[in-house]
Order: sequence, then C-alpha cells, then structure tokens
Amino acid sequence: MRKTLALTGVRIVAAALAAIALFIASMVPAAAETSYVRAGKLIDTEHGKELSDQLIKIVDGRVASVEPFKGAPSDGELIDWSGYTVLPGLMDMHTHVIGAIQSGIADPLMSDQAQDALIGVKNARDTLFAGFTTIRDVGTWRAFTDVALRDAINNGYVVGPRMAVVGAYLTIPGGGGDITGLADDVKIPDEFRRGVVRGPEDMRQKARFLLQHHVDWLKFIATGAVLTVGTEPGMPELTEDEMRAGVEEAKMYGVSVAAHAHGAEGAKMAIRAGVRSIEHGSLLDDEALQMMKKRGVWLVADIYNGDYIDEVGTRDHWPEETLRKNRETTETQREVFSKAVKMGVKIAYGTDSGVYPHGDNAKQFRYMVKYGMTPMQAIQSATTSAAALLKWSKDVGAVSAGHYADMIAVRGDPLKDITVLEHVSAVMKGGVIVKAPAE
Ligand SMILES: [Zn+2]
Repeated sequence: MRKTLALTGVRIVAAALAAIALFIASMVPAAAETSYVRAGKLIDTEHGKELSDQLIKIVDGRVASVEPFKGAPSDGELIDWSGYTVLPGLMDMHTHVIGAIQSGIADPLMSDQAQDALIGVKNARDTLFAGFTTIRDVGTWRAFTDVALRDAINNGYVVGPRMAVVGAYLTIPGGGGDITGLADDVKIPDEFRRGVVRGPEDMRQKARFLLQHHVDWLKFIATGAVLTVGTEPGMPELTEDEMRAGVEEAKMYGVSVAAHAHGAEGAKMAIRAGVRSIEHGSLLDDEALQMMKKRGVWLVADIYNGDYIDEVGTRDHWPEETLRKNRETTETQREVFSKAVKMGVKIAYGTDSGVYPHGDNAKQFRYMVKYGMTPMQAIQSATTSAAALLKWSKDVGAVSAGHYADMIAVRGDPLKDITVLEHVSAVMKGGVIVKAPAE
C-alpha cells in the first residue's frame, strides 16, 4: 500500500514536471520565425502617406522591412491582405477596461475583485478585436486590478491589447476619483482608497506605493467629474502642491502623469505641476491651451461619449446630476478640441471607454474629423501621436522596421471615409493574427 502510494506520488510529480516543461516550451517563441503581409494599401503614419501594394516582412513578432510587393517570398508564410487597407494597430489613450459599465453611485461596489478582473478580460478582448492593440488604461476603482490584467496579457494567459496602467486614482477625499454619494457610516473597502490623498506628503506616500507596485503612469483627478456624484467638473480638487509632489515622485521612477481635468483652473494647476497629459479638457480656456502648447502637454479629449451618455443615460434614468454635467461639458469640449487642433496643441486619441461599451472605441474618429482634424491627423492621433505620448514610439504606432507587428486590415479607405475604422476585418498583434477576416 505504502509502495503504491509512493509510486503514485512519483508519477504525479513526473506528470507535473512534464506539464510545466510543456507550458514553458509553449511560451518560448520558435527561433527566427518569418512571415509576410501583403497590403493592398498601407497607411504610413510616420510620413502621413498612403502606399500601394506593399510587402511587410515580419521576423519574431516585429516588422523587419516594408517594400513594394514584387512577388511571393519563399522563406515564410504570406498573409494576403491585398484587398484591404492596412494600418498600424490603433491606440486608445483613455480607457477603463476593468469592471462593468458604471452609471449609478454604488455600481463599483456591486462586484468583487475577481468579477471585475474577469469582466476586464472580456473588455480587453473586445478592445483588441476592435483593432486597438495598445491602450493606456487610466483608472480602476479597485487598486491594481489593471496591473494584474496587464501582466496576464503580457504573460499570454489571456488575449488583450498592450496596456499602460495607473493602478488607482489619485484624488482628494470625496473627489472625482473617490466613491461618493453613500451614507457617511458606510465602510468602503481599503482597495478603493489606495489613491485618496490628504496633502502633499500623503500624495508622496500614496504615489510611491503605486509606483512600487509597477504602474506605468500616475493618474491625478485634478477637478470634479461628470460621473462622480457631488463633484463639479469645473471645480479644482487636488492642490497644485499635492500634484507637484506626485509629479516629483513619478519622475524618480521615470513615470509620467495624466491629469483628469475638465475645468480651466484645475488644468492650469496640473500643467504647472508638470503633468504630461490633460484628460477631457472640457472647459479649458485659451490660456490653458496656450500653456499646453508651450510646454508640449498633450490633450486627450473624449469627444464621442457625451452623445452616448445623453442617449443611454436619459433612456436608462441615470442620475439627473450626471446628465446635467454631461450636457454642460459635451459641446464645450468639442469647441475646445477644435481650438486645440487649430492651435497645434498635441492631441492623442482617447475615448473614456467603460463609460460606453468596450469595442466601440473607433466611433470617436468621425467626431475628430467633424471637429477639425483631417482623416490622416485623426489616424495619427491614434497611432504615432499616442505612441509619442506613451514614449513607446520605438515599439508601436507605425508599420515600419523595428516596430511590433501590430496591424489591422479594413475594407475601403479610411482617408476617404474614416468610419471604415469602426469595422475592422483583421487584427494582428506581435506578428500573430488574433482576429482573421471572415471570408
Ligand atoms: Zn476616464
């Protein structure tokens, strides 16, 4: 009996070791894997040009060369996208993929962390299949759920876009990044409050904690928010001193800071404190835009979802306060956006997905064209510009030698009709087709 048990134990250990070996083998890419994509048209986002009939050589997940097609190569598989326009994988610089879509006060408390993460897996996949191969995810109510998802994607456990994540919202108590509107004796779990700061020194401590847990960016809530009850988008929240302390900590880790700011005053404080991007920017005045242009601060304005909130929020009886704040910021934001385009302020594509359903990220392109960008500028905002914002220009944002082979195929020509980007036929990430054309 004892012998049998021992033998069984040996077999179990052997089987486990074999499984681990197989698992490790599956994670190591084969040596020098070469493949090709033939692109009917190719959008060259680095030079703002459209090329015809190109051959893209991919070696080990990165683009090795791009040249005119002269015949099928013999040293690797040829993926025929000659009937499509090929673009670099799109990039959304303002998403919230963790958890379900939120409309009411207590919504973030209606699911636990595992549920939030698993919903996040679905949201990340929907985002990738919509052609967005890189996202900057700017906040989750439960701290670090986004870090776990980013790592799971990078380890190949689940499919999703490349992610830059922030870990938690850095916000004042009762501010736009806090859980608000509940009775004062309701205890909120600690992981919702990892980024709630009281003064510059507390900002340093909380920022350090996030940075030590491997976030890619910090996210400040510099003003009130449309979707957080009891806060006003036009009102400053974090002080300039608090934000300066956070920026200093971030710098020590080589990390940049994004500031949620609707109102002009809060935005100016964030800009003076040294943030890299202003999110929303709905009520910015000329002075704020000039400061951004002068200092090279990016604008990430979610000019599509106001229409979604108005339609669905009204239909589903979202809080009247939310609908009012949305009305007060939607058209002003579009005016600010138009002005920023004319002034030459740096603009990156960001949609606030999570407010509206994930996978509809490309719906904002038509708004960006309507409010002043050329189709090429709109595409660049979601490719080369977004890559520059992330400081990932060497890896993403273009289909040219050295970049990850992240690309999408669409029917038609997005330079003639930008809405074709809402229907992506195929998606490749790192040289692997994750979504293939239906036919
Ligand atoms: Zn947001």
